[in-house]
Amino acid sequence: MFVRSIHKPDLSPGSAHPIRGTEALAVCQIVGCSHEIPRRHLMCQAHWFEVPSDLRDQVTAALASWLDGKDDVRPYLAARLRAIISVAKLHNIDVAEDEAKLARWTRSERMPRS
Ligand SMILES: [Zn+2]
Repeated sequence: MFVRSIHKPDLSPGSAHPIRGTEALAVCQIVGCSHEIPRRHLMCQAHWFEVPSDLRDQVTAALASWLDGKDDVRPYLAARLRAIISVAKLHNIDVAEDEAKLARWTRSERMPRS
């Protein structure tokens, strides 16, 4: 369990929670957003709630399956990227590269490295 725990992600579904005290900070994954968020979150609260609720549920479920050892990390990474793309499109951010990456992940069994 210890070994597994050190591989647990900084990545995690979006934030609906306030930042507390000493949590390490990251920046929201949406291009152009500089909101600081806890490292275990994916996006700031405002952007997370722009993700369609069914997609938010998919991210949360895929993360739980990975952390529980029921699935590997790929469904989570794909769901996470789909969530990022969905918000980016709302803000007219170019998502061609992300969509190409997602298509490669979907086609390939290769484990993404980023
Ligand atoms: Zn944001």
